[in-house]
Amino acid sequence: MSEPEPPVEANAVERTDREHVFGTWSYQSEVDPTQVVDASGVRFTTADGNEYIDFSGQLMCSNLGHSADRVADAVAEQVRDVPFVAPNYTTDARAKLGEQLAEITPGDLSKTFFSTSGTEAVEAALKIARLYTGKQKVVSRYRSYHGATHGSISVTGDPRRLAAEPGVPGTIKAPDPYAYGSTLDPMESLEYIDEMLMLEGDTVAAVLVEPIVGSNGILVPPDEYLPRLKEIAHDHDALLICDEVMSGFGRTGEWFGCDVFDVEPDIMTMAKGLTGAYQPLGATTVTSAIADHFEDELFCHGHTYAGHPVAVAAGAAAVETYREENLIEHASEVGDYLGERTAELGERHPSVGETRGVGLFRGIELTRDPEKRVPFGERADKVSTGTTVVDEVSATAADHGTYVANMINTLIVAPPLPITESEVDEAIDALDAGLDVSDDAMDD
Ligand code: PMP
Repeated sequence: MSEPEPPVEANAVERTDREHVFGTWSYQSEVDPTQVVDASGVRFTTADGNEYIDFSGQLMCSNLGHSADRVADAVAEQVRDVPFVAPNYTTDARAKLGEQLAEITPGDLSKTFFSTSGTEAVEAALKIARLYTGKQKVVSRYRSYHGATHGSISVTGDPRRLAAEPGVPGTIKAPDPYAYGSTLDPMESLEYIDEMLMLEGDTVAAVLVEPIVGSNGILVPPDEYLPRLKEIAHDHDALLICDEVMSGFGRTGEWFGCDVFDVEPDIMTMAKGLTGAYQPLGATTVTSAIADHFEDELFCHGHTYAGHPVAVAAGAAAVETYREENLIEHASEVGDYLGERTAELGERHPSVGETRGVGLFRGIELTRDPEKRVPFGERADKVSTGTTVVDEVSATAADHGTYVANMINTLIVAPPLPITESEVDEAIDALDAGLDVSDDAMDD
């Protein structure tokens, strides 16, 4: 374990960046970018020479780690061969990735619209659901994130939506399966959604959920939840959209979060792990019934960079990498180990309220009072990067050589899939040191 480093002054790059580039989701006075100069395997190095284990895969997206040569080569080759063609042309990689997605997604999901981000993947899903059903409304849940633009932020439930409110009409929020922190039992919350759909009449196009909630705290529903949700949606002639932007591509030890529950959605959205973050790429994949609908109805959607050759080349090479390096199986095995190690942290630290998750997708929720399950910070605080106890836990873990993201009182552990057990051990030691800080803060 390395010794804590003294604070370092911002260098010239960091100062220039801070002056001329917006920090995301932040009061700009609090933005403090750190320059990264190298990344390899599950580690990255900052300009001050410090090296970190990337225990959150940056924004839960670097699923392949930072040395996926097959993807890097595919990107370089594509940039040289055919850097760009308009979406009415195609490339080898675009056809290939479309076919690969039809193979790895469950059931009858078969045709994909490519975009450049998770946000755009969700926007496309909303538009497709509305065009296909001829209905306008969408039910999503409060503890969710689906994207930053007007439609996707309107279906987002967490505080990031507040600045965009009242948002797009016809977006309705439902309660969540959050056994630890909600007064509603997860399965009861489902029956509430059933009643909502009944009361909305036949006006709801789709129910949109993250199968396992990501940035809002790694919330894993009971096994029966997602199958029953699909049943409820279909009973009301609404589609089920699974947002797999964070939970997809091996994160859970299965290809997709919905595979954990054996559910085939009508529409699936993907990004992040789709290229292992080597290129920005979003994907919206639909069943053949929905695809067929647009044979004779206008598919009134598109972007200049829909199916960008370099991005889909990265995607096709990434899917090959997951397959050939057996990364999904590896994530499942090392994920079990990670689950044991995070559970031990929960036993050792009184400020850990709950550890939960599946595979390499784990949350460590903090509390100042385990009996009453009182969080350390207010939810709404977390729209900014202001220092809270959970930020101090992450900062202390960083002082001990491990980067771990956090949001709303929960540490989010989502390392690159190739991580080894000994690298997990190293990072757990750093979290151990970080959680001493929250233990000490319980009485403040
Ligand atoms: N959906 C989910 C579940 C996400 O986690 C995110 C990003 N964190 C998005 C959508 C939006 O993706 P992007 O940031 O690539 O636009």
